[in-house]
Amino acid sequence: MSQVQNLTILGATGTIGENTLRVVALHPQRFNVVALTAGSQLEKLVTQCLRHTPRYAVVLDEASAVRLRSLLAQAGSSTTVLFGVEALEHVSSMPEVDVVMAAIVGAAGLRPAMAAARAGKRVLLANKETLVMAGRLFMQAVAEGGAELLPIDSEHNAIFQALPRDFRGDLAACGVRRILLTASGGPFRTTPLSDLPHVTPDQACAHPNWVMGRKISVDSATMMNKGLEVIEARWLFNALPEQIEVLIHPQSVIHSMVDYLDGSVIAQLGNPDMRTPIAYALGFPERIEAGVSALDLIGRGLTFEAPDYARFPCLKLAFAALEQGGMLPAVLNAANEVAVALYLAGAIGYGQIAPSIEHALDHALAGEPGALDDVIEADAQARRDTAAYLGPRAA
Ligand code: NDP
Ligand code: MG
Repeated sequence: MSQVQNLTILGATGTIGENTLRVVALHPQRFNVVALTAGSQLEKLVTQCLRHTPRYAVVLDEASAVRLRSLLAQAGSSTTVLFGVEALEHVSSMPEVDVVMAAIVGAAGLRPAMAAARAGKRVLLANKETLVMAGRLFMQAVAEGGAELLPIDSEHNAIFQALPRDFRGDLAACGVRRILLTASGGPFRTTPLSDLPHVTPDQACAHPNWVMGRKISVDSATMMNKGLEVIEARWLFNALPEQIEVLIHPQSVIHSMVDYLDGSVIAQLGNPDMRTPIAYALGFPERIEAGVSALDLIGRGLTFEAPDYARFPCLKLAFAALEQGGMLPAVLNAANEVAVALYLAGAIGYGQIAPSIEHALDHALAGEPGALDDVIEADAQARRDTAAYLGPRAA
């Protein structure tokens, strides 16, 4: 693709957003940043705006917009500041945008990702919550909008790379037996089970291989991240739950594998650096420089283990939500977001995360969502239920 591609980066101030800008900066002839969005990190957004001169910068609310306008004006920037969910949808769908990097964390990323899909953009999807909450509706929007969906999550990006280029949603037709989703096992893979209830947020966020936002880091520690990724894989690759297997691979060198009927297993390997999947998706179908050092395999032992549900009950809950389907994956996600936020704030213990999600699943309505509003309502209800359940138990 030789033409310049116009890019919106949702969640530009996050780890995925920043890594995207690092890759983009290596290819000034190839990408033009049209819009950047942030939550609370306004100073960082100002720096990014000065460096990448987008037409629009989007923040959450009017007060942030007023502050950002003043900061940008002082710095001599001509970027236009917008705010709110409609503005996020606008910069995800406006005609001059070709590519949308969907890298807002959590349920807040759903509406703008949907807008990009409906508008037929090339959607680089990091926000896995979109597929967990509304997989069927999102995949419908991708098909109806004529969007091109490229996964950024390293595992799904690896699977995408290991599938035939002409894959159109039929694993059996491509001779695929299983998808092997690898997981690092996080920082508590070998911690004595009796110590787990007392682990601190900083310990949970100290991931052995990846540098990530705090929410997804806790999800990696509980393996809820892998649970969300199982659901993500179900939708991205139209896989049955029994076609997806989770394998712990502590070195995070193999980012996932596809097992074919003839016994071949195709894996994608690389250093654990999100710039690789980001560059793959930005350049697709070409390969472009990511700034990542070459993988050195000498002396690297690659090992594999089965996940232990006693240590990682969240993974089991995610499989259960996937099996039951309907709104339950959205409930799982919402309850997890509430519990993880309370845990990060020091209000509940690590051991309370899984039981609160189980409680939410047990009390949720299972029906299939007819529209996005049904999902948003189920999400809100699960948040209320989980907050009420955890409220009396919080410190
Ligand atoms: P971060 O927490 O680092 O960044 C999140 C981004 O979203 C920030 O720009 C943040 O703004 C913005 N944001 C937060 N809340 C809102 C909101 N309510 N409305 C609008 N914007 C908001 O997360 P990551 O970059 O780590 O992850 C982003 C997504 O990518 C997640 O869905 C995650 O699961 C997924 N992902 C991440 C991977 C990684 O390696 N980091 C790997 C695979 C997937 P601000 O910081 O300004 O408040
Ligand atoms: Mg991942």
